Amino acid sequence: MLLYAATSNPGKLAEFSTSASTAGFEVLALPGLAAMPEPVEDAPTFMGNAEKKAIAYSLLAPGLLVFADDSGLEADALGGQPGVRSARFADDLGFNAHSPALKDERNNRCLLSLLAQLPNASRSARFVCALALARDGKVLIRAEDDVGGLLLAAPRGTDGFGYDPLFLLPALGLTMAEIPREQKWQIGHRGRAFRALLAKLHEAAV
Ligand code: IMP
Repeated sequence: MLLYAATSNPGKLAEFSTSASTAGFEVLALPGLAAMPEPVEDAPTFMGNAEKKAIAYSLLAPGLLVFADDSGLEADALGGQPGVRSARFADDLGFNAHSPALKDERNNRCLLSLLAQLPNASRSARFVCALALARDGKVLIRAEDDVGGLLLAAPRGTDGFGYDPLFLLPALGLTMAEIPREQKWQIGHRGRAFRALLAKLHEAAV
């Protein structure tokens, strides 16, 4: 069965496609995605945003099975922030707005600065990924999963992206930016959610 991913991120695409092929599915990038209007990701939940994207893009690609994802970090000490605002956390809070640092770095510094203002704050957090699969504007399958960890006080590791260098996997003693990409896919939120989506799809008659 052929699935179309509504993502232009080559790393995600490669991971989705490798994982799908081992389960008997094929994943391709949604043709023409770059020219399609991007839906505003303003839902209060990851799943809300994933559904919004899957619905919008599947309406622009009639008859195709289109899936979209939304993901981010939830820090317990911050009541689940940055959550759905993970990608634009520093911008939303106006943190270091004039700094030349790249977005991921500013987001990480913003997170550390908020945690530092909370003495004895719990460092527990999780990465969450929600996926929605739709056809012709109708959501057929949803899947969501997460991976828990602890937020460090300083970044470690150079692989990965986003909040990876701050996210320690206690069982391994390594951050998400210190483990190989294949291992991240195995234990991470996106890989777990995607495998759950495929398992549901396997059983569904779509
Ligand atoms: P997106 O849903 O993949 O666009 O991710 C939104 C934001 O969440 C990213 O810009 C990152 O800040 C954060 N994020 C999502 N997944 C990961 C991850 O696997 N590692 C680190 N940060 C992530």
